[in-house]
Amino acid sequence: MNAPTPEISRDLAELDAVFDQQRHAARQSPNPSLSERRAHLDALHRLLVENVDAIADAISADFGYRSAHETKLLEIFPSVQGIRHAKSKMAKWMRPERKSVSLWFQPGRARVVKQPLGVVGVIVPWNYPLYLAMGPLVSALAAGNRVLIKMSEFTPGFGHLLAELTEKHFRRDQVAVLNGGVEIAQAFAGKPFDHLLFTGSTAVGHHVMRAAAENLTPVTLELGGKSPAIVAPDFPLDIAVQRIMLGKCLNAGQTCIAPDYVFVHESQIQRFIDLARNEVKRLYPHVPTSRDYTAIVNERHYQRLQGYLEDAQAHHAQVLPLGESSPGERKLAPTLVIGVSDRMRVMQDEIFGPLLPIMSYQTLDEVLSYVADHPRPLALYYFDYNSSRVERVLNETIAGGVTINDVIFHIAQDELPFGGVGPSGMGHYHGEEGFNTFSKRKGVFMQSRVNGAWLLKPPFGERMNKMLKFMIR
Ligand code: NAD
Repeated sequence: MNAPTPEISRDLAELDAVFDQQRHAARQSPNPSLSERRAHLDALHRLLVENVDAIADAISADFGYRSAHETKLLEIFPSVQGIRHAKSKMAKWMRPERKSVSLWFQPGRARVVKQPLGVVGVIVPWNYPLYLAMGPLVSALAAGNRVLIKMSEFTPGFGHLLAELTEKHFRRDQVAVLNGGVEIAQAFAGKPFDHLLFTGSTAVGHHVMRAAAENLTPVTLELGGKSPAIVAPDFPLDIAVQRIMLGKCLNAGQTCIAPDYVFVHESQIQRFIDLARNEVKRLYPHVPTSRDYTAIVNERHYQRLQGYLEDAQAHHAQVLPLGESSPGERKLAPTLVIGVSDRMRVMQDEIFGPLLPIMSYQTLDEVLSYVADHPRPLALYYFDYNSSRVERVLNETIAGGVTINDVIFHIAQDELPFGGVGPSGMGHYHGEEGFNTFSKRKGVFMQSRVNGAWLLKPPFGERMNKMLKFMIR
């Protein structure tokens, strides 16, 4: 292995130093009060609202182009909303929970106390670099932790801006943001955090979990996968198309919970195509110059997506671009892929771009068995006004989260747990689930002065035999 460059050595030393500072600070002040936690969230709120344009500009520069409206709507707004929600509920979340005690242990008392874990690590992907740093940060601060954040090497400009802003608003031993390449990410995952939350690809998730296992560091893995959308034949197709195409086109499809592919009844394929073409034209009249349409983050990803289209064509799929692309600016037009099969890479990998394969189906049974035969997705979308069929789909599929009759919106519900299942992730955050993820829920039993525990002591004899007969029924 090559010796690390001076830059990498410096970043590794910084990681070690700031980790130690945070650990020391957590020992010194292990249980911040409600008002201290509120002050942290207020500081974070100021950091965001005072820098809206700078944040949008920095993310846009990293992407080549990112619509400022998308950054405000999909990153800054949900972050601010998450802060507000945590601030209003935190006092309740922090309160110990009284638990009932069985007959044998009365009049003792049982409760659950929520304790900060200590130092939390957060590894952030490039696709929503603000929101996917802020979401875990809000939960971890509400739960009273110190937080160390590692940004993606693909968003270095924004990563440095966030590091700078964080230094202005927080002590480094409370919150710190680190940048750097994969070497730093690997070293980061190997630190003995009290909890590590990773958002990124399923492939890298394996490495992160392996590194965390060395320290028995508990992990929350927010991973990816192929999230299906399913449209029932009697659902108004125009509405389904509008919602699916918007969900697919936001951030040019570079969204973990974007609908990856769609099941459309075989009788409606042509109508779906026509409606999708009209809808994309309405949303983005000219993709290359549209201020609302985001670029593909880098050339490697642009080529990866082009490769899916070439591979699909080579396997006789029909590729239908719904607008003009501009490779120089990495603006890739939304594109439908018709006649797909599992032999095509576009149906094997998570797409993470504005390509939408359409799967034709005849019966719901067929759709449900396809979903069950494939890795458990991060999200699932079903469009149907028939409540018994909706219940059937909910019962017979397993996915991280679900939106019925729309896409994506389940992520924006502060009171819903967010997280994948199996290959799409483990653990949850957002709202109270996030607070609990970053807390030790410690069970405490308080023995009463007068109690019956003496009855259970040796020497055991006839009395104990009688009691056991009564106890074990
Ligand atoms: P990625 O897995 O390539 O990288 C994510 C982060 O991991 C980056 O910060 C990177 O520096 C770091 N990293 C890379 N190698 C590492 C290693 N060996 N050890 C530790 N850290 C390492 O993912 P990406 O390309 O940035 O993001 C896209 C993926 O993220 C997609 O699969 C998408 O579905 C997923 N994603 C999931 C969610 C979610 O909430 N579940 C949200 C957004 C994105």
